[in-house]
Amino acid sequence: MEHRKVIIIGSGPAGLTAALYAARADLQPLVFEGEQPGGQLTITTEVENFPGFPEGVMGPKLMDDMRKQAQRFGAESLFEYVDKIDFGDRPFRLWVGEKEWTCDVVIIATGASARLLGLESEAKYMGFGVSACATCDGFFFKDLEVAVVGGGDTAMEEAIFLTKFASKVTIIHHRDELRASHIMQRRAKSNPKIEFRLNSVVEEVLGTEENGRKKVTGLRLKDTKTGEISEMKVDGLFIGIGHKPNTDLFKGVIEMDEKGYIITKAKSTETNLDGVFACGDVQDSKYRQAITAAGSGCMAAIDAEHYLQTFED
Ligand code: NDP
Repeated sequence: MEHRKVIIIGSGPAGLTAALYAARADLQPLVFEGEQPGGQLTITTEVENFPGFPEGVMGPKLMDDMRKQAQRFGAESLFEYVDKIDFGDRPFRLWVGEKEWTCDVVIIATGASARLLGLESEAKYMGFGVSACATCDGFFFKDLEVAVVGGGDTAMEEAIFLTKFASKVTIIHHRDELRASHIMQRRAKSNPKIEFRLNSVVEEVLGTEENGRKKVTGLRLKDTKTGEISEMKVDGLFIGIGHKPNTDLFKGVIEMDEKGYIITKAKSTETNLDGVFACGDVQDSKYRQAITAAGSGCMAAIDAEHYLQTFED
């Protein structure tokens, strides 16, 4: 068993910025990088809105550099997934399999993941025509026809982005009203390559498998008003139905909202548990940007440092 003052769970911009600040405060933080080291930015290509990079920066490169910067001041990374916690007593206890760590402060930066429809055929063709990230995979659909599921800003943004490559983009939404902001709706509706299929749900992703190579060929749709079943020819399907915070590990322990996002106190990263802080997308369903995540990671490290000062007094 090993003891640390600060353990950070998660390694996106929030976790790695918390690591940088905690390391510079001489707290030698240990970062559990988890299943997707570097977080969601590692599945994007170019990041154009992180300040300081006038020409843009590749997501994986930005995250590697953030990690190196934190390590330069003494942060340590373990590429492991914490699978059990006990915050009931001091010190806090965390496990990876049988191996146990204890610590005085935990910073939760486990982020959020794209939500999926939950269809068997969606899982089967994931990465072979089904995607949850237009920025990552749009390029593969040059002059092809694709569909985007969802009625929020993410779906509109993905659809508009996909028109750079695809010859036609159909937005499929299960209601007759979109949730997206007016400006995003207007942009999507005025784009000549975008069509809408409202009151429709994807029942199945259709495809073929030749010589072990899977390929999407279409969708089976159901009209939510009439129940009518139809087929639609597409080469790709993008899922844009929102995100799910990665908080399963903390259920029943840390206070969350009805969507599972961790609740932090106003103007701070404090959770309902003393000594446990949360930053980044795991506590933010609104802004969800790399720069806001990084900012709240900085806040979490400063909050942790102040907490440790009173804890040690
Ligand atoms: P939202 O929760 O806003 O939208 C999710 C959409 O997917 C809704 O239309 C929802 O339907 C639909 N949906 C959910 N589950 C299913 C399902 N199982 N099957 C079919 N459809 C489903 O998430 P977003 O990711 O779009 O946006 C999250 C936040 O991020 C928002 O605050 C948004 O404004 C912001 N954002 C802003 C952007 C920008 O300004 N450029 C870009 C992207 C996001 P229903 O409408 O019935 O709930």
